[in-house]
Amino acid sequence: MKKCDVGVIGATGMVGQRFITLLEDHPWFNLKVLAASSRSAGKKYSQALGGRWCMDTELSSDVADMYVYDAQADKEKIASMVSFVFCAVDMPKDEIKKLEEAYAKLDCPVISNNSANRSTSDVPMIIPEINPQHAEIIKAQRRRLGTKRGFIAAKSNCSLQSYVPAMHPLMEKYEIESALACTYQAISGAGKTFERWPEMVDNVIPYIGGEEEKSELEPLKIWGKVTDDAIVNASSPVITSQCLRVATSNGHMAAVFIKFKDKKPTKDEILEIWKNYSGLPQKLELPSAPKQFLHYFEEPDRPQTKLDRDNEHGMAINIGRLREDRIFDYKFVCLSHNTLRGAAGGAVLLAELLYAQGYMN
Ligand code: NAP
Repeated sequence: MKKCDVGVIGATGMVGQRFITLLEDHPWFNLKVLAASSRSAGKKYSQALGGRWCMDTELSSDVADMYVYDAQADKEKIASMVSFVFCAVDMPKDEIKKLEEAYAKLDCPVISNNSANRSTSDVPMIIPEINPQHAEIIKAQRRRLGTKRGFIAAKSNCSLQSYVPAMHPLMEKYEIESALACTYQAISGAGKTFERWPEMVDNVIPYIGGEEEKSELEPLKIWGKVTDDAIVNASSPVITSQCLRVATSNGHMAAVFIKFKDKKPTKDEILEIWKNYSGLPQKLELPSAPKQFLHYFEEPDRPQTKLDRDNEHGMAINIGRLREDRIFDYKFVCLSHNTLRGAAGGAVLLAELLYAQGYMN
């Protein structure tokens, strides 16, 4: 099978580096183009990085020697060289919106890690195991943009990638009225390492700009309904959250409390539902799909960030400590890898889903 050429916009960043590690040996996608800001453009990738490589695996010499394009000035050229691009950039939101739309209008689909277009009503925001049907809205988006094949599809914020997957299968049978989620988020979520953020060593910072709003509102779009020209957000469950930055390198943990509306399942039923849940990526056997989407740990001190974040190549959702609660009905903890399932890995899985369904043709 001939591989499909792809590009990474924001290739020098934390998420961009993850994309490179995931795409190097990908069975369907061939890493063809790297792009970043004008500061990096025109250099070899290793020079543009200038010591910023922070993945556990070594940078291969093939990628180190690749040319870095200017994501803005070289748009037309990049769009002509690839079938689609992944985009993860640190820029003002309105500029990201323009950039992503420009690629889409060049008939180059964009799989986005950025928040800029997540609330655009005809841009699907997809967790492939949960709402793959939202891809149907791409038809309407193409009508608005006037494109044949170009579109933008986003993945959701990394903070919610553990508790939304845990809540979703329960909601197929029971109504959850409200949820409280406190997240304990790793520093790579801010594109940082301990060397580059020494203030984070031995520290907790109780503020991550904009994160609580995303954690509370984005799930409602994921659980929304597709209409002719928009995704209409769900109105429940009501979610409240507090998001804290903690001194871990990778992996976002969440302490979650849920209240059901009328009937509530037993603890055994919840465990059974989690164990048996799988989505379209598992059915289609997509290359990046975890075999078991939700892993429940019986040990009282699991999941742990350091021990469990890499479960199923960082694509599994890890859950533990399910028990009854005095104010809500149940409480549990959950964990997902923020730059894998929560960012680059989730975006690659989304691209695989859309590719398998013919959206990249
Ligand atoms: P980062 O490490 O700061 O990297 C930012 C990237 O953006 C770099 O490649 C940078 O290129 C590029 N860039 C900056 N200004 C640009 C411009 N004007 N034109 C083109 N490229 C430009 O950030 P990150 O953590 O990878 O995050 C990237 C995006 O992914 C953000 O929107 C973030 O919210 C989202 N995200 C991150 C995570 C995570 O866990 N880190 C999770 C989910 C979503 P230069 O090197 O040339 O400056």
